[in-house]
Amino acid sequence: MSKLLQILPIGAPDRELTDWLCAQLAEGFDVYAEVLETSLDPAFAFHPERGQYHSSEILARMTPFVTRKTWRLIALAEVDLYIPILTFVFGEAQIGGPSAVVSYHRLRQEFYGLPGDRDLLARRLLTESIHELGHTLDLVHCSDYRCVMASSHSVEWIDIKEFSFCPDCAARANR
Ligand SMILES: [Zn+2]
Ligand SMILES: [Zn+2]
Repeated sequence: MSKLLQILPIGAPDRELTDWLCAQLAEGFDVYAEVLETSLDPAFAFHPERGQYHSSEILARMTPFVTRKTWRLIALAEVDLYIPILTFVFGEAQIGGPSAVVSYHRLRQEFYGLPGDRDLLARRLLTESIHELGHTLDLVHCSDYRCVMASSHSVEWIDIKEFSFCPDCAARANR
């Protein structure tokens, strides 16, 4: 049976961006991919004291969306994500899978007071999505700064990465 990657919209992320990401991930991982018709309202994960959404709580709520045909499930959000020990996260994943969540909130140039750039946003989102999916394939952070599995603490670090796994990570990925 062919592998199926599913995208779960969190709230109402940009549809064009969502569909583009879906097509790119299908090609990149050589799997089938689809955007689920349903979406998950992230209100339950909002913490007013931080004004942000707890990504681990979103990951936990994704379990019912995983079905027998799911290879990997990646949630796409536009809200600001965090885990308690960090100021923010671009995304979070279950090591070994099946679920991951990414947000493009801090991938937008507008977040940094700069003019919007759709192409740059799309590139960053694809890089971050492949990174989180890499974690679901048992990959840990890589010391090669160009590898998609290098850790990124700011968008500048995302921008120097490539869309692909380095040869070591590619060989280690548990697909
Ligand atoms: Zn990571
Ligand atoms: Zn690597």
